[in-house]
Amino acid sequence: MSDFSQTRRQFDLPEGMIYLNGNSLGPMPSASVEAMTRFLNDEWRTELIKGWNTKNWFMQTNTLGDRIGRLIGAQPGTTVVGDTLSIKVFQAVAAGMALVPDRKVILSDNGNFPTDLYMVEGLIRLKDAGYQLRTPDPEAVLDNITEEVAVVMITEVDYRTGRRHDMKAIIDKAHSVGAVVVWDLAHSAGAVPVDVGGLDTDFAVGCTYKYLNGGPGAPGFIHVAPRLLETVEPFLSGWYGHEAPFAFDVNYRPMPGRIERMRIGTPSIAAFALLSAALDIWDQVDMDALHRRSVELSELFIREVESRCPDLRLVSPRDPQARGSHVSFAFGQGYACMQALIAENVIGDFRAPDVMRFGITPLFIGEDDIMGAVDTLERILKEERWKEERFQKRSLVT
Ligand SMILES: *Cc1c(COP(=O)(O)O)cnc(C)c1O
Repeated sequence: MSDFSQTRRQFDLPEGMIYLNGNSLGPMPSASVEAMTRFLNDEWRTELIKGWNTKNWFMQTNTLGDRIGRLIGAQPGTTVVGDTLSIKVFQAVAAGMALVPDRKVILSDNGNFPTDLYMVEGLIRLKDAGYQLRTPDPEAVLDNITEEVAVVMITEVDYRTGRRHDMKAIIDKAHSVGAVVVWDLAHSAGAVPVDVGGLDTDFAVGCTYKYLNGGPGAPGFIHVAPRLLETVEPFLSGWYGHEAPFAFDVNYRPMPGRIERMRIGTPSIAAFALLSAALDIWDQVDMDALHRRSVELSELFIREVESRCPDLRLVSPRDPQARGSHVSFAFGQGYACMQALIAENVIGDFRAPDVMRFGITPLFIGEDDIMGAVDTLERILKEERWKEERFQKRSLVT
């Protein structure tokens, strides 16, 4: 299945569109329509409240979690789906702080996605106990993992450049000094092979609307190392994490020894129906084969852009093993240039100050898309189409 023609057929992309933005919002699988219709007709409409039992709604947090777990190397029973990634970051870091109570430093890096840093800022204010967040340059993270650090919170793949952190080196260093590690896999899950179980990370979190194609606003997920399931503190102590949710006790008791304790409250079962349809495709995919294909397509894209669009400068790592599954080029007029590309039905996106991002997602793109995209890009640059007035105005979402 090295050309992924099987999986390409399972997406419903608009005619003529070259979609290089699956790293930001995955496209709709063809099966999504039927999955949602089935959920509406055969589950919500007909089963109503019985669906929590008859359609297993209550435990989909776990069945979907295990299917994502396979893609990130997590053992069954260690991953649950629900809430949003920002919430899962908060939950994981709060739990990590409690595991190392005598230390007051949270270490991240200044290339991290801002919401991760914002969530930690809020958590630190809430704790009001002298915690500090340190954000060195990404290259300096390893050297900053010292015996002062309680929690190392790092996003593996940089959302702008695609640069990957060395997960093994960071986990090993953190554990050697007694710190715990929270990995954000937003741009890793479904993009690159990850082995959270083998590397024995303490926590991992991510979202399902990017590479996993769960749809806009699809839920987040959290993985907790099996060795922590008995002790990890669920500070967002909602009834879904309770030992006996339907005992309706007035006091919270976390579900002993099980990942359910990281659940919070009622998830969107409609969103789960879409996520399940997307994971039906992922269930067929081998992550190593997918990554090999991603590297082939990315290398082709870089080679073609560099030879035909000399004004663009590669800002992603040149070593494919040091990159996630998107490729970024800097260009002073990057925003307008991306708008001109989008007007020609080649969809990528832009990240301030000057980064044009292109998601290379083998599940639904091939060489023809890569070549078509570069043809259009070359033409826009040659004709200086980005100079047009209509491409200058910034939209609310870039
Ligand atoms: C996409 C992304 C997010 C988004 O968080 P939401 O709560 O889903 O909005 C957070 N962190 C990283 C690293 C991301 O790439």
